[in-house]
Amino acid sequence: MTSATEQGTRNGPVREDERARVAAFRDRVGVDQLVDVHTHFMPKRLLDKVWAYFDAAGPLIGRPWPITYREDEDRRLATLRGFGVRAFTSMLYPHKPGMARSLNDWSADFAARTPDCLHTATFYAEPGAEDDVRRALEQGARVFKCHVQVGAFDPNDPLLKATWGLLAEAGVPVVTHCGSGPVATEHTGPGPIAALLARHPRLRLVVAHLGMPEYAEFLALAERYDGVLLDTTMAFTDFAERDAPFPREALPRLAALGDRVLLGTDFPNIPYSYAHQLETLEHTGLGTPWLRAVCHDNGARLFGL
Ligand SMILES: [Zn+2]
Repeated sequence: MTSATEQGTRNGPVREDERARVAAFRDRVGVDQLVDVHTHFMPKRLLDKVWAYFDAAGPLIGRPWPITYREDEDRRLATLRGFGVRAFTSMLYPHKPGMARSLNDWSADFAARTPDCLHTATFYAEPGAEDDVRRALEQGARVFKCHVQVGAFDPNDPLLKATWGLLAEAGVPVVTHCGSGPVATEHTGPGPIAALLARHPRLRLVVAHLGMPEYAEFLALAERYDGVLLDTTMAFTDFAERDAPFPREALPRLAALGDRVLLGTDFPNIPYSYAHQLETLEHTGLGTPWLRAVCHDNGARLFGL
């Protein structure tokens, strides 16, 4: 855990160091800016609860998880911009019914006052979910977050039947935490998503965390369905590799899907630095063109930036 003194130091010269590390990464890769499709901004009360949950290493987390960027919103925005992130999201998600609409209102307001944030919305398996999604689309949502692990609902729940149809028709990307990491819940894993894609083959589903730990199975879904993308969030970091190492023999498949992999990081809720996430992607050896596509071009194309 970081002490108050270390925190003060880190925000000073050490933070400058990190900015330089990220700039050096961008130089090596040959991109001026980054697009990060998986970052969390949410109402303060909710973020405080999420942080408290991480602090307590709650059952859905399963291990100590010190938050590196525990700062107020303005400072977190300045940090991301300082890393050269030109576009990011405000991933937020309900853990129970009755929350989605107010979260979406907060997020619409956040996007309105944060021009570099891709307007993000969410939904839960509950009556009226399609109305929440339609309303969010009308508000201008450009990306959705679906949290199967925390929400603990079946993506094939009949309550979501019209919702997925609407999202598939709109062609809006849905970043979905559907892998069984860090801890499996009732509906995580490739099975339910395979069933969903069989019904909605054109859905633009972004598998968060590269599908960790079921990497190979989710890669197979991306190979089968052109609309499926993957985000890199936490993948290859020392933290993730300890419990859920990416299978090295699957690297060529990840290379082949190079136009459908998107940089994601989970900023600010990460137990390591942003630079570490970028550097570990580089250590895959997948090469500069792959990194350039993943860290900037694919996201820019997907969102028409
Ligand atoms: Zn996340």
